[in-house]
Amino acid sequence: MAKAREGGCLCGKVRYRALGPPNNVTNCHCRQCQMAAGAAFVTWAEFPAGAVAWPAETPLWYRSSARAERGFCPACGTTLTFRYLEGDALDIAAVTLDDPDALPPEDELWTASRRAWAPGDERLPRHPRERKPG
Ligand SMILES: [Zn+2]
Ligand SMILES: [Zn+2]
Repeated sequence: MAKAREGGCLCGKVRYRALGPPNNVTNCHCRQCQMAAGAAFVTWAEFPAGAVAWPAETPLWYRSSARAERGFCPACGTTLTFRYLEGDALDIAAVTLDDPDALPPEDELWTASRRAWAPGDERLPRHPRERKPG
């Protein structure tokens, strides 16, 4: 049976369950993640969209760019999710897991816009922008 991981927002209104292993886990230093989370970077665990369930409330979605949207708790504002409009993946903010150490990052994206005082994890592979060109 696939391992289920649970998590949710600061106030507890929005809860999720993610089944099975993530596709990847990454620290994203892009400017949009910085602004959306009010933080230097966000650690995203990407799952197949169908692997993530919302037992009670669902996040509110905000169209953050021409090709992506972000989900947050409507009550407390916690940044919870990211997804491209095209595609079948859903990113969960890994630090919102009940076990926030369960899914450590494997690489770093958008280091071109990382803050000088927030170097992330120097041991990880780094990509100045997205992981794959195009
Ligand atoms: Zn909340
Ligand atoms: Zn980002």
